[in-house]
Amino acid sequence: MSYKKTGVLTETDLKKAHLLPSKERFEKGPVAVIECVEMIPCNPCVYACPRKAISIPQTITNLPQIDFELCNGCGACIARCPGLAIFVVHKNYNNKEAAISFPYEFLPRPKVGEIVDATDRKGQIVCKARVEKVIDSKANDRCAVVTIAVPKRYYNKVRFIKLKHLK
Ligand code: SF4
Ligand code: SF4
Repeated sequence: MSYKKTGVLTETDLKKAHLLPSKERFEKGPVAVIECVEMIPCNPCVYACPRKAISIPQTITNLPQIDFELCNGCGACIARCPGLAIFVVHKNYNNKEAAISFPYEFLPRPKVGEIVDATDRKGQIVCKARVEKVIDSKANDRCAVVTIAVPKRYYNKVRFIKLKHLK
């Protein structure tokens, strides 16, 4: 069912918007997944990418497009998106795990090494995750970028976390 009815994006919605990397691209290395499918006047993502991998064709209300071959998954665009819509997925982080990086604006921040609940796009718990990295620089203007490791099979399902003491 479309996100227009459920409010929750699916892989099909992302495919339709040409925003889902191919299976082959996911295998190659970290890559940005831009989960932005509403036609709004917004474009900081375009200027955030040092490799010029993101573009918005013609008019600012069009959806961003990404050149998955130019993107190297650096993550510079994650904290720059006011819609918190950009993720970096590293499917082959190691033999068993994928790494997901996402924007995080809550306090307290998760701690590196902490075991947390990983959630899907709907906010439902999928599995346990280990916090690998928390980037909380001034340049990111209070939006941290958190990276977690999860079982590889969830690389396209997990998109956020729930901290135990916040439940
Ligand atoms: S992850 Fe890095 S290279 Fe890829 S689109 Fe974002 S800023 Fe550009
Ligand atoms: S900055 Fe974020 S919300 Fe704005 S167009 Fe880019 S991806 Fe969409």
